Amino acid sequence: LVAYTAVTLWVLGRIQRLAVPRWAAERQAGSELYGFIEERISGAEEIRAAGAEAHTLRRLYALMRVFTTRARTAAVVSGLAYQLTHLVYAVGYAGGLVVGIYLFQQGAASLGSAYLITYYITMLADPLQSIREQAEDFQKAAAALQRIDDLLGWQPQVADPPGLVQPLPGGALEVACEQVSFHYEEDQPVLHAVSFTIRPGRVLGILGRTGSGKSTLTRLLFRLYDPQRGSVRLGGVDLRETSVADVRRRVSMVTQDVQLFQGSVRENLAFFNPEISSTRLQEALHALHLDGWVDALPRGLDTPLESGGHRLSAGEAQLLALGRAFLKDPGLLILDEASARLDPFSEARLEEAIDGLLAGRTGVVVAHRLKTVARADDILILEAGRVVEYGPRAALAADPDSRFYRLLQSGLEEVLA
Ligand code: ATP
Ligand code: MG
Repeated sequence: LVAYTAVTLWVLGRIQRLAVPRWAAERQAGSELYGFIEERISGAEEIRAAGAEAHTLRRLYALMRVFTTRARTAAVVSGLAYQLTHLVYAVGYAGGLVVGIYLFQQGAASLGSAYLITYYITMLADPLQSIREQAEDFQKAAAALQRIDDLLGWQPQVADPPGLVQPLPGGALEVACEQVSFHYEEDQPVLHAVSFTIRPGRVLGILGRTGSGKSTLTRLLFRLYDPQRGSVRLGGVDLRETSVADVRRRVSMVTQDVQLFQGSVRENLAFFNPEISSTRLQEALHALHLDGWVDALPRGLDTPLESGGHRLSAGEAQLLALGRAFLKDPGLLILDEASARLDPFSEARLEEAIDGLLAGRTGVVVAHRLKTVARADDILILEAGRVVEYGPRAALAADPDSRFYRLLQSGLEEVLA
């Protein structure tokens, strides 16, 4: 009987090992499918605008097909486990019968003992059945656990250095990029040996066509990634030797697309940090010349945003992001300007806000508009990830042989838009 139980449990164990990866694959396909659905629902407006409904549906069907196939495989494999238990049970029952008859015929057992052998095997059936059921639940749980474990196992690519971290200095930060090379994917280099320095309080304007690596460069300055070669220093400190939290605190980045959260304008500005007082908010808005804009909103600072609330235009969202950046009082401001065109009024407001924000800070601006470029002390032009021109703006603008000069001549906004 012990041998029979052992064999049955062994068989169950084998089957479980077959089923676990199937369930894991099913969960994986499920999360891809639901991720896709969520993304497309939030992007429904754009999808319709671009007429991409058919394409989106095709992708959806493909994902659903994968999910269905995997769910079916997983179900079949664990169904097999169910059938196999019955088989093992039937074989055991027959075996018990044979042994009982044999022992009785040999006279080694009474009729009662022979009967008891088969009876005991029957009694084993129920516990085995529930063990099998528990095993199946366990299979699913094990698959889920494995996925959680995988997720928890993800390490951030940038991490604090072991041991002592060097704090970033206060005030406007000096920026130094030295021979920085970077790629997202192996053998698809995005930046090649980029070098430049910005003295504290000065502004560097980065120009370049779309895809030349401008946003990527700003991500390295904010330490969203580490370069594979070369170094980025802020205030003389290598970013890899300081804490990520310090970089986030001392550097503000305003990107091309601003993320708004459900909540009031106030909450969106202060990032749900209740410690930021109304006075502080008012001061910030005043410094950026935005008080007029906020007063014009239906309910001022308490105007609810998104999900049924007030909708901000792209320009207004950018203003809000500038306010956010200002509240952090950073030593370096990175502004990745959206190339979208704004009406002259919004543009003037944006310009004032950017001026207020850059005052007394080091700045890196990815510029698409002439007005933004005019603010830069130095100009760096990127082409396919290489620096093709770098120098003081005034000197470049006066040199008819420079690319910058030619860009200005041919209409910067047309070329870079
Ligand atoms: P734009 O003017 O359109 O904003 P950009 O100069 O900011 O362009 P980047 O966004 O830095 O260009 O992109 C540079 C290159 O890196 C492009 O070829 C792009 O496809 C690639 N790239 C950008 N982000 C990623 C990413 N997260 N993963 C992989 N490749 C990326
Ligand atoms: Mg960009």
